[in-house]
Amino acid sequence: MSENILVCVAWPYANAEIHVGNLTGSHLPGDIVARYHRLKGDNVLMITGTDSHGTPVTMSADKLGKPVEEVYKFYHEGFIELYQKIGITYDLYTSTHTENHFKVSQSIFLALQKNGFLFTKVEPQWFSPGLKRFLPDRYVEGTCYICGTEGARSDQCDACGNVLDPTKLVNPRSKVANDNSSPELRDTEHFYIDLSKLEPDVIKFLKERSDRMRETVLGESLGKIEAEGLLPRPITRDLDWGIPVPVEGWGGKCLYVWFEAVIGYLSAPIEWAQITGQPDAWREWWVNPSARQFYFIGKDNIFFHTSLWPAEFMGVGEGFAEVFAKDNYRLNLPFDVPANQFMNLEGKKISGSRNWAVWGADALTRFDPDALRYYLTVNMPENKDSDWDWTEFVARNNNELVATWGNLANRVLAFCYKHWEEHVPGDSGKPMSLRSADLELLATIENGFNTIGAELDAVRLRSTLGETMKLATAVNVYLDVNAPWSAVKTDKDAAAKTVYTALRAIDSLKVMFAPFLPFTSQRLHEFFGYETPLFGEQYTETVKDSLGEHTVLRYKGIEGLQWKPSELKPGQKLNQPGPLFKKLEPVVAEEERERLGK
Ligand SMILES: [Zn+2]
Repeated sequence: MSENILVCVAWPYANAEIHVGNLTGSHLPGDIVARYHRLKGDNVLMITGTDSHGTPVTMSADKLGKPVEEVYKFYHEGFIELYQKIGITYDLYTSTHTENHFKVSQSIFLALQKNGFLFTKVEPQWFSPGLKRFLPDRYVEGTCYICGTEGARSDQCDACGNVLDPTKLVNPRSKVANDNSSPELRDTEHFYIDLSKLEPDVIKFLKERSDRMRETVLGESLGKIEAEGLLPRPITRDLDWGIPVPVEGWGGKCLYVWFEAVIGYLSAPIEWAQITGQPDAWREWWVNPSARQFYFIGKDNIFFHTSLWPAEFMGVGEGFAEVFAKDNYRLNLPFDVPANQFMNLEGKKISGSRNWAVWGADALTRFDPDALRYYLTVNMPENKDSDWDWTEFVARNNNELVATWGNLANRVLAFCYKHWEEHVPGDSGKPMSLRSADLELLATIENGFNTIGAELDAVRLRSTLGETMKLATAVNVYLDVNAPWSAVKTDKDAAAKTVYTALRAIDSLKVMFAPFLPFTSQRLHEFFGYETPLFGEQYTETVKDSLGEHTVLRYKGIEGLQWKPSELKPGQKLNQPGPLFKKLEPVVAEEERERLGK
């Protein structure tokens, strides 16, 4: 029975390029799980988009002296190009700067207000007399009132590591380019969400999910709430770039980005449904209670996704439907939030500003997408931080991808292509009679569809790829024992059985590797002579609305279940095979290290 699977991925900020840590943290695990469920014939919707609002984006724009819109679009287009090259198959990759997202976010706000979960409070905040506007905390720096260090951000001091009360900063200065006025404290009013009222519901939800969620995730959510409680949080800011607060007299204020960006998990499916011409189709993932929602994020975002986001729509109740579409229904809660830890680089924390990073788009100019996907998966920081090490990258590429899997597929196909005249051994329409060793190998491999599948569903991707590689090793062992390379000269019938068995095992393994290595699995699929592809196609579209236009990345899927053992037919015509992966010279590691930190 096919299931409805919503794959949600963290919304990348439009102020920096995407590096390998971002890829392995959220986009890649989301894509692997989405591809697995698509092969299984499930009804998958994978979504996210560019987080176009918020202080980091306005700060980049100020620094570059460019309009914010131009800056967000520059990164947005770059992200879309990267996803196409590395095969991150979003059904919809959009942006938070859309009319639809504004409407959905404002509906959530109004429903929370109607249900009594919002209140307002007046507090002092830094104001720039020169710019005549309030400055977000990170725009103001000065002397730390705890340790006396110069250049502390008003909300945090990097020197002593303390979180600061912004109003206590000594000798405050504005960090905005061309603002020479001295910031002063002025009162400003903001909306807060009263999370304390929702605390019991959030705790109940997290306890219900405790069998499913990772220990690290529960610690950052349930553990944190039990220790500190859920406190009210401000959900509006004095900013002019963002979603206006939908209340009269609140001009010049926007919804806080932490509050509205997560609402994208709901607004993006709604936009997808509108674009595809079935405006209610999003409900299959949001209202249908049997749907399962997965959220792929980094550890710095756990609290927002496991606690604040569920709290938002617990507070909304049926109110969202009333405000948004004069209807009534409740929204589904997350099924799993398989958040990853961080990936470091050569023993140090990845840092964009110091160029201590492997950038996705740049790495793809020198390495094949599946080589990157492989290393990012076997090294995925699922339960603890991991490290990208260039020597290990080269070694694992050569020893595992090339030597174990690539050579297995290539040498069996090339051998068969040559000795059986470009066809799978055996007569068309006649099943091959197999020996017990052949049947035993096939049973081992085919059992992988259950075991590997269960692990993929549980989002244990790193170990699953290792298990799949072990199955490839089992085929190599079988070939060593049966040695068709010599048997072909003495007993061609026995060699035919061995080659047929190995081909069928490789054909099955190809499907199991496909969520991880989609590009080379598709090539291998074509070597076998199949015409229907394993996956659908990515493409872009331009969507126009009252805010202008934005590019979206889309995915056109294909029908049918493919997550099943090979039914390779004797006599099937093959295509000319070739190597799937490239061997890398050890000097590559040295060359790549040379690029870092410059
Ligand atoms: Zn300090």
